[in-house]
Amino acid sequence: MRLIRFGDAGHERPGVLTADGRRLDVGTFGEDWNESFFGSDGPARLEAWLRAQGDTCPVVDDDVRLGPCVARPSKIVCIGMNYTDHARETGATPPTEPVLFFKSTTSLCGPFDDIVVPVGSVKTDWEVELAVVIGARASRVSEEDALEHVAGYALHNDLSERQWQLERGGQWVKGKSFDTFAPLGPYLATRDEIPDPQALRLWLTVNGERMQDGTTGDMIFGVATLVSYVSQCMTLLPGDVISTGTPAGVGLGMKPPRYLKGGDVVELGVEGLGSARQRVIAAK
Ligand code: ZN
Repeated sequence: MRLIRFGDAGHERPGVLTADGRRLDVGTFGEDWNESFFGSDGPARLEAWLRAQGDTCPVVDDDVRLGPCVARPSKIVCIGMNYTDHARETGATPPTEPVLFFKSTTSLCGPFDDIVVPVGSVKTDWEVELAVVIGARASRVSEEDALEHVAGYALHNDLSERQWQLERGGQWVKGKSFDTFAPLGPYLATRDEIPDPQALRLWLTVNGERMQDGTTGDMIFGVATLVSYVSQCMTLLPGDVISTGTPAGVGLGMKPPRYLKGGDVVELGVEGLGSARQRVIAAK
């Protein structure tokens, strides 16, 4: 099943993307894709409801905006340097334990929304990633049980302002949390749709030029390891997002480095999770 949210920013409504590509408005199901939904076996309940009620759901026009595919979660946990070739391109040694950082939940936006370059930024960068959405609350779960705590997966662009992230002291969160720096979607694919999260191709282009082209098989720490590891440090709540890191090909790693500017167009995708497109605009 593929879950979407559609409508104006901040007023999104829940929907479902059907196998034949139609968007259904499932507002009468009465729930948003949030902690309460995921934490109460929501996807299974929704699936049963759709079998009975699906024919009565209005179809949403294709030109209606898509929002982030989950409602604002309690946290977005990101994994840094989780692909060896990306760690190397940034000059870092591949880590021996997962590198964790946070991204503000207010940075979430829709998969086709504009990316706003922050005021004064000259180092805004892209990162295509596989995002994991938590289903069942996870605290100190084993690797063996970890995937049972996953609701599904989504495409994420982990945008980064490299000066704020790397040159201004303190923690990476500063450069990761600007508004519009977390386009998520187009949809959440429930776990049954992605039998092996370590066998997905992921790619990103800027103005049509291929920048990133990798596979989740190259992650240093796979999804099950990450969910288990993060859950040793903190309780993961239903709806929480873990973004699992990016392969090589970010602007920071180029010689010379290359960053986003107004007018650029970023397109990205993960196999099985659709594609997204964001126009870059300068801050007003
Ligand atoms: Zn990242």
